[in-house]
Amino acid sequence: MTSLEKNRTLRILNTAASGKYGVLAAIAYNVEQLEALVGAAEAKRSPLIIQLFPSTLTQLPLLAHAAAHAVKTAKVPLSLHIDHAQNEGQIREIIATLPVDSVMVDMSHYEEAENLEKTERLTKECHAKGIAVEAESGRINGGEDGIADTGDLEALFTSPEDVDKFIAAGIDILAPSVGNVHGDYGPSGPAEGQIHFDRLEAINKQINKRVLVALHGTNDFPAAVMERCIRAGAIKLNVNKLLLEVGNEVLRKNAASTPLVKLIDQQMDAIQAETERWMDICGSSGKA
Ligand SMILES: [Zn+2]
Repeated sequence: MTSLEKNRTLRILNTAASGKYGVLAAIAYNVEQLEALVGAAEAKRSPLIIQLFPSTLTQLPLLAHAAAHAVKTAKVPLSLHIDHAQNEGQIREIIATLPVDSVMVDMSHYEEAENLEKTERLTKECHAKGIAVEAESGRINGGEDGIADTGDLEALFTSPEDVDKFIAAGIDILAPSVGNVHGDYGPSGPAEGQIHFDRLEAINKQINKRVLVALHGTNDFPAAVMERCIRAGAIKLNVNKLLLEVGNEVLRKNAASTPLVKLIDQQMDAIQAETERWMDICGSSGKA
């Protein structure tokens, strides 16, 4: 069995857990976004986890190789993670063919017993290749690009029993359901009381360093909410629109009037600046 000792994702997260800061795990859909994210990590001397959706692996098969190249050549610790892999066949193909450091084995659309059984089996297969595994306990509501929408399923908060069952399944990173949702909260972020910080804190206490905590569903988060989640134990901070929307805004505003090469620069500059700002908020700046 290949050891997980040198696994990049786990090294980044374990170092952050000891240092009590959070690390952005940022989705990229294209190479401009990837460049901007890596540029921010190098400019801020910050660790960063690059995330791709399974749908992106199909849409832009080259992007995973560009990301893996960035991981290998960057001057700061980076890793490549596949977010929300929900298809067993695709997970096997990913770990057999792509240089990924970690995968979210997301079987949360199955009932718990089947979810756990599949998670345990796939975790063994990933670990045999030195690839770390994240899983979702309970069920985080909502949908994201290319992911089976759980909107018609009931959101389930992570219970203490779930925590122990998922740890027993052998996973490395746990993504709890604590009121966080996939999708948008609205311009001012989650409503007061929507994110159960006390539940997150209790989960983190119960975990007691056995696995690392990932936080999903961070669209529209104000800085204070992110900081509170980090204090409550969230280490891997999944971000998507939170960083990328500024770049989309540039495209919407300037596409008709700006030459393409300049537009690409403007988009990347906006995303890099926003990513650097969030690295400061999460406390990872200067930690690489
Ligand atoms: Zn998610």
